[in-house]
Amino acid sequence: METTRTGLGSTLQLHRFSQAVEKGVTLARALEIALESPFLRTTETVPLEDAAGRMLARDMASKVDDPRFDNSAMDGWAVRKADCKDKGTVLRIVGSSQAGSSTTPSIGKGEACSIMTGAPLPEGADAIVIIEDSSTEGERVTINGPARPHYIRKKGENLERGAIALIAGSVLTPAATSLAATMGHSVLEVVSRPKIAVIGVGDELTPPGEPLADGEIFESNTYGIAALIKKMGGDPERFAIIPDTIELLRETLDEAAESCDAIITSGGVSMGKWDIVRTLMEDEGDIGFWRVMMRPGGPPLFGKWNGTPIFGLPGNPVSSHVVFTVLVSEWISKCMGADYETGPRLAHRVRVIMEEPLKGAKGKLCLRRIFIRQEGDSLVGSSSTHQGSGNIHSMVAHNALSLLPPGTDSEEGETIDALWLI
Ligand code: AMP
Ligand code: MG
Repeated sequence: METTRTGLGSTLQLHRFSQAVEKGVTLARALEIALESPFLRTTETVPLEDAAGRMLARDMASKVDDPRFDNSAMDGWAVRKADCKDKGTVLRIVGSSQAGSSTTPSIGKGEACSIMTGAPLPEGADAIVIIEDSSTEGERVTINGPARPHYIRKKGENLERGAIALIAGSVLTPAATSLAATMGHSVLEVVSRPKIAVIGVGDELTPPGEPLADGEIFESNTYGIAALIKKMGGDPERFAIIPDTIELLRETLDEAAESCDAIITSGGVSMGKWDIVRTLMEDEGDIGFWRVMMRPGGPPLFGKWNGTPIFGLPGNPVSSHVVFTVLVSEWISKCMGADYETGPRLAHRVRVIMEEPLKGAKGKLCLRRIFIRQEGDSLVGSSSTHQGSGNIHSMVAHNALSLLPPGTDSEEGETIDALWLI
């Protein structure tokens, strides 16, 4: 955005969102508008040992067959199944195959080769007898149990060389990290962590650990928001608290827009005279939407400051967490190119049977804090009464958010949609 500031404090906007500011939008529309202004996704290469938890930038193909060669799933004897039809068959031992062996004896009719788990299968063998089903005497082994072909792990049965087994936009779980190694990758191209500024705004805010003057409270939102950003694969940068002073806010936004991919503020977006994030964005920024039809978390705004995307989240601690969870996180994952099923996420959508009635909100998606527990085959939800949007303890005492559509209450025993926070 290019902005010209005039001497009288009024401002001339040269580039704005294509439409006028949209007010009171649905959550879906809010996401749509925000996605008109994504941050730029970049990628980087990291060594495998640092890759767990990162998001893959490309599909990855296996460099090898897995297994690389036919091998045994058990410790025992590699045999010819046809030789072992009768219990008590005696076979001649021709050698041994260990994991890592590069040369393996082959077997013929009436012969067996001792074999360890993971060791290459001798040529001629087509089944394994487990060690527990055998007894040996000198060069002979007596077979007392079944010879099983399915104890042979076939070359390429898990993955064929060239097969794509890890997909772009997925987060490398611990198992995916092992798989990348199995496939032969020592470096991986991952999506760079977006640097996201987190700025708390309010005269009353004091960092925890410092003395509180009358009327002051401990600033909490930036810590939680920074943690949420990290969980989504971003790199948060917490700025110093901004008092309700336009000049300081302007300076800080200028600095954040310069050094970060996106900005998240908390506080100062409601209707009040001191809601300076809103007023500054109205006067000098570029607003896409203001207010979303949800409760809690009604007043957020989205726009651009000097071309950098900015979410103005409400100051109420529950509101800022909830808006991040249902809106900002979705925006981040889309900007990063996340895969819906395997990308980073903060919640799973589930169906829950409510144990008690739950009141919705007129005209607004209602995200009440509920507690989900498994009971038999069902997920059961309950809610303690205190639901104030200033009460961050309610986000800790519960583990989920209801998704009550606008204007709907839920009866006791009714099944509702919910987001189970993870
Ligand atoms: P605001 O959105 O600025 O009107 O703030 C709404 C409420 O949230 C007020 O009670 C503020 O004191 C509180 N609040 C605002 N920002 C924060 C913050 N960063 N940490 C904790 N509480 C906050
Ligand atoms: Mg405030």
